[in-house]
Amino acid sequence: MYKYFLFAGLILLSCSHNAYRSTNKSYKKQVKEFAKILREYPLKDSAGLNYVADWVGSTNLSMRKANYVIIHHTAQNSCEQTLKTFTTPRTAVSAHYVVCRDGTVHHMLNDLLRAHHAGVGKWGSVSDMNSSSIGIEIDNNGSEPFPEAQINSLLVLLERLKKAYGIPQANFIGHMDWAPGRKVDPSRFFSWKTLADKGFSYWYDTTAVQVPVDFNAVQALRIIGYNTAKPEIAIQSYKIHFVPQDTTRIINESDRKILFDLMKKYQ
Ligand SMILES: [Zn+2]
Repeated sequence: MYKYFLFAGLILLSCSHNAYRSTNKSYKKQVKEFAKILREYPLKDSAGLNYVADWVGSTNLSMRKANYVIIHHTAQNSCEQTLKTFTTPRTAVSAHYVVCRDGTVHHMLNDLLRAHHAGVGKWGSVSDMNSSSIGIEIDNNGSEPFPEAQINSLLVLLERLKKAYGIPQANFIGHMDWAPGRKVDPSRFFSWKTLADKGFSYWYDTTAVQVPVDFNAVQALRIIGYNTAKPEIAIQSYKIHFVPQDTTRIINESDRKILFDLMKKYQ
């Protein structure tokens, strides 16, 4: 009996590996191509610059690393579905990590490579977030709470990334922060306070806050990082992140206190 279960277990294990055998191969092939670019001498890089005759190799270098973490929810029904999406070339989307409901973490591409998760947006003066961030997708359909096991795995992952790459506390943001109006993930069920309490992004304390009369709330949103070209959608993203229970796009007295406090932490 025991032997039978062991055998069945082995079949299951090998099946789940087989499912991604060809996409794993594709990943390896693409990485090999990138490595080839790095190994060209004299240097020939993707900007097409060509100073062949005068090339001098420096002795001092390392790989580039991410300076931001962008958090998403998948808006799909299972991790399997997301893994499928991220291994299908025509979707052209990916993330470095997928965190499943049960806390399983799938690492899908090297942190030093560029994933296709952020898309068009702006945060502060950053205009190409894919080049400077690590993307984390949380398996969630967008209208359900996030299980504890999943958040615990996320916190462990964030801790390791923050430490490994020296990512500043302010630089853990959501997809909706990056792309107001276009994106609303992670949803209002996601607790940014839980993250901030552990040192990933900031939270506010308005207990003793006195807001100056001439305080400009939209300017504060811009100082925090939001693209305020269309203030009402910047406000919407701010509310999803910091005041999830409020579905309006209006800045009230309580928001002014929150923003005044946050502005000082993010600036
Ligand atoms: Zn997203």
